Amino acid sequence: MNHTILRIAIPTPLYRSFDYLPPASDAADTLQPGSRIRVPFGRRKTIGILLEVAQQSALEPARLKPALEVLDEAPVLSSDILAMTLWASAYYQHPIGDALATALPVLLRRGQAIQGAREPGWRLTQAGSQVDTDTLSRAPRQAMLIHQLRAHPQGAPRSTLEVPAEVLRRLSEKGWIESCSLTDTNADATVIASTPHTLNATQQSAVDAVTASLSEFAAFLLEGVTGSGKTEVYLQIIDTLIAQGRQTLVLVPEIGLTPQLVKRFSSRFGVPLAVLHSGLSDRERLAAWQQARSGKALIVIGTRSAIFTPLARPGLLVVDEEHDSSLKQQEGFRYSARDLAVWRARQLDIPVILGSATPSLESLFNVEHQRYQHLVLPNRTGAASLPAYEILDIRKQPLEHGLGRPLLKRIAHHLDHDGQVLLFLNRRGYAPTLVCHDCGWVAECPRCDARMTWHQREQQLRCHHCGSQRPVATSCPECQSTELRPLGQGTERVDLALAEHFPGVERLRIDRDTTRRKGELARHLEQARSGRARLLLGTQMLAKGHHFPKVTLVGILNADQGLFGTDFRSSERMAQLIVQVAGRAGRHDRAGHVAIQTHHPEHPLLQLLIRQGYPAFARAALAERAAARLPPYSHIALVRAEAARQSVPMAFLEQVRRHCEAAGETGVELWGPIPASMERRAGHFRAQLLLQAARRGDLQQLLGGLVRQLEQMKEARQVRWSVDVDPADMF
Ligand code: ADP
Ligand code: ZN
Ligand code: ZN
Repeated sequence: MNHTILRIAIPTPLYRSFDYLPPASDAADTLQPGSRIRVPFGRRKTIGILLEVAQQSALEPARLKPALEVLDEAPVLSSDILAMTLWASAYYQHPIGDALATALPVLLRRGQAIQGAREPGWRLTQAGSQVDTDTLSRAPRQAMLIHQLRAHPQGAPRSTLEVPAEVLRRLSEKGWIESCSLTDTNADATVIASTPHTLNATQQSAVDAVTASLSEFAAFLLEGVTGSGKTEVYLQIIDTLIAQGRQTLVLVPEIGLTPQLVKRFSSRFGVPLAVLHSGLSDRERLAAWQQARSGKALIVIGTRSAIFTPLARPGLLVVDEEHDSSLKQQEGFRYSARDLAVWRARQLDIPVILGSATPSLESLFNVEHQRYQHLVLPNRTGAASLPAYEILDIRKQPLEHGLGRPLLKRIAHHLDHDGQVLLFLNRRGYAPTLVCHDCGWVAECPRCDARMTWHQREQQLRCHHCGSQRPVATSCPECQSTELRPLGQGTERVDLALAEHFPGVERLRIDRDTTRRKGELARHLEQARSGRARLLLGTQMLAKGHHFPKVTLVGILNADQGLFGTDFRSSERMAQLIVQVAGRAGRHDRAGHVAIQTHHPEHPLLQLLIRQGYPAFARAALAERAAARLPPYSHIALVRAEAARQSVPMAFLEQVRRHCEAAGETGVELWGPIPASMERRAGHFRAQLLLQAARRGDLQQLLGGLVRQLEQMKEARQVRWSVDVDPADMF
């Protein structure tokens, strides 16, 4: 006898779906995959996603429980999102129920009804619309907000207002603005559109290439040097799509770091735009998601997880800064939003553009194999030219808090000539090490195999790996000497040194410590852009995508970290970082200079990078990868394990290795297990096993069977284990 069986994905760590009988009240034949269903699960109730309506179950029907309730008339997960998530769950070896939960906004996961969620917004009051904004010159953000709201008499969605909550609160206390809830009819963005640039020839041919294939799948790698006008290319293609009523999804690494990008999109077109980022409340996120799903938002901008946003009329996917490792989720469901974007575009039969000044070696490899079309913008727009590089050999040179004399001289020169200087050091805090000058004791983290960073202002030692912190002792715990000395430098220390060298020059330090509070980063970036702060110092926060028109000198304090990293991607990352930071210089009419301090001036990859540029570097780096058979010339996955006892993860992974070996001739090579390069972190010992295959399919086949074995192993319960396919980091 045939039965109607509901196959349901439930958010659990288990690699399987669960079978139920239809709920008593609902007719099973109207049920559609992608709908939410409330089911009994163990002793609790939970919400799952219907995968399929089947006729047969491996279990006796008498043993199946009926589902409780169908929550959706129409599926919350469109068929394309469902298909993509199922594929990703299999490819990245992540439990299906948990993967699907990731694809949904939190409120929907918890069972909220899909209709009726209104978008929260703000509008001007009568008093507010009469405010003279010239009187607000000391409160530029308030003035900006009022200007913005004037363009939206019906109210503007909260998600499009780029001000912190405190500004909204202040204005509403003054009685100038009020909150409102926006329905589809009144959330209309009637902004004044900014005018497009006249494209140069290479921009035009990039636009033409993409617009020629708007109704079919095509993948493009848009490689444009920093400041070459990539964003303008996206905008003009989107213009065509808007005319057709079709949506564009734009993925960016971190929205907090690119407020200008969002502004450029929102000010260009008079169309509704949805922005999805981690700063949204659950309600705001759901509202933005619904605008994308209904087709109302013609442009959807978001970080990594926005790849799961449904689109009613998809026309184009864009992945900006496609080389950025934050597009790969590093925990839980370890998907790559970039790779999923290509997959999704193929399935939707629409084009996808991957854009970068420093493309990943994977994408360049795909160009070489004619999977992606290469669109190149070799020049900066307008009068701006690419910066000139100079290597400063710091061997045997006296360094003052990390600053060599030649660099100090160049800084002084640029400051004297009305320039703006940006210094890059990828390390925050005062000093990465605190050492006892008498006995050699070093301040180490009690929970990690790592040194603690000295933060001088807070008088604390902090571990940047696990977050533990303690006050700085005044004397050595080993020998009681008071000769405790900082070794090496972080941004805090360099900032103090700069204050001494360049008194009276306004400085600005941008790192995680100086931008913790909401709105602080945006304010700092604005100050940097205005040129008022003439000495900028920061970590990689300062490197990404910003347009600081007045910067004339970029100084890289230490390029050596990247040259000898333990990860096979270290040199690629270093090159990308150098080019991106350097790209902040000379973006306007004045020429830019880049000075790089290093102990290894002859390093071949560094030489290649600065003499011939990123493309030449990338060719050489790809040749090295090919010779070593590393990705993209092979495919890898890591099985990681960690536990409180040192021997446990290694023993577990030895067993994993034996499982793999028992599978016979699989085409997959096994390396390890070995302890992680920082073995102990946050009190846990970590180890890893590397799987490598020439063919992706071989690796997939082995992993698919392996995870099901792992979840059965009793040793697996003593460790936290995970599988990372195409890992972005090797430790
Ligand atoms: P990228 O995204 O490649 O870094 P942008 O799109 O931000 O480059 O462009 C850099 C600057 O050049 C921006 O200020 C932009 O407004 C300007 N720009 C872009 N295209 C043109 C053009 N065709 N003519 C003049 N200016 C342009
Ligand atoms: Zn000591
Ligand atoms: Zn630690």
